Formats: sequence, structure tokens, C-alpha cells
Amino acid sequence: MVLETDNRLLMHICCAPCSGALLQRLGDEGFQISGFWFNPNIHPLEEWTRRRGSVADMAASLNLPMRWIDDIRQSEWLERWTPGDAGRCASCYDIRMDEAASMASREGFTLFTTSLLISPYQDHEAVRMAGEQAAQRHGITFLYRDFRPFYREGQNLARTRGWYMQKYCGCILSHAESDHPKKPAYVFTPKGMTPD
Ligand code: SF4
Repeated sequence: MVLETDNRLLMHICCAPCSGALLQRLGDEGFQISGFWFNPNIHPLEEWTRRRGSVADMAASLNLPMRWIDDIRQSEWLERWTPGDAGRCASCYDIRMDEAASMASREGFTLFTTSLLISPYQDHEAVRMAGEQAAQRHGITFLYRDFRPFYREGQNLARTRGWYMQKYCGCILSHAESDHPKKPAYVFTPKGMTPD
């Protein structure tokens, strides 16, 4: 049970589809939530802009206060892992969690967490570890939960609201590996999903 005075939660938001359901559920539990946008290696810039815009739309529709760090730090991320190993995602999480913990600590939040914990496509344990280590560095508490059972709920909410749904994880490598150029893009209309 979270004390009423200790429930200021900063949620790092990777994208609207991964965060909307969590914001609703945690809000229902009584957390006072602010969102935090910081995703510095989304490639290309057009994609970063699209995801950021979708998060801004979501925040407005949910009356969610936001903190924004709009830095692009692709080179920092690339320098932090050794090509060929599995560390690229770990360094990706570390950069985000360190900034989230720092922001939460500076701005008087009690807790921080991340919407990355909802995705079955992320390395869940690595996200958890990055959050807990960042929490230790900045003297704040990482709210860890396995949010993955709510992934479909979040995707469905995003479809209903018309929030942008990306077709690859985000970085330049995931962009290159995906077959997203071949996938059809869809836009939401009141009548349903239609080809873009
Ligand atoms: S695949 Fe996703 S989690 Fe891994 S480094 Fe790229 S953007 Fe980050």
C-alpha cells in the first residue's frame, strides 16, 4: 500500500501504446503520475517526432503533466555497447533509466518507473536491472512491476484512441533489421482501421 504522501510517481514513457493503459491503472490505484519523455536514440528523426507527437496527444487527452527531455544521444548509446554483443538494449535502457531517476530525484518524486516494463518484446530483466541500478545511483525508489499482462490492453486502447503505433523498436539497428518498409501503414478513422 502506497502512503498518500508518498505516491508522486514519474513514469518514463517510451511510447503512447505502451503507457496509456498503465497510466489509467496506476492512476486508479491513487498514484499522482507525471509522464517523462526521453527516448534519445529513436531513428530517424521523423519517427522520433511522430512518437513524441503521439505521446503529447495522449498526455493532453489524459490530463497528464509531462516532463520532456528532447535530446538526441545516438552517439552516446552507440559508444556504450560493443558491437556484436547483446548489450545494445542494456545501454539503451541504462541511458533512459539514469535520466528518469535523475529527473525524479531532482523534482521531488518519490518513485519512478517505465512503460518499457509492459512490453513482451523488451528484455524485461534488463529493464528491471537498469531501473534498480539507476534508483540506487540517484537515491530514489524504482517502482518495479511486471506490467506485461496489460500489453494487449494498451495496444487496444491505442487503436481506439488513434495513437500512433510504431512498427519497430526504435533505434537505427532495429530500424535496419525490421521489415517495416514493407508493412502497410494504417490510420484510425471512426469507421475503423484503413490503409494509410
Ligand atoms: S532494439 Fe530497442 S531496446 Fe534494443 S537498443 Fe534498439 S531501441 Fe533500444
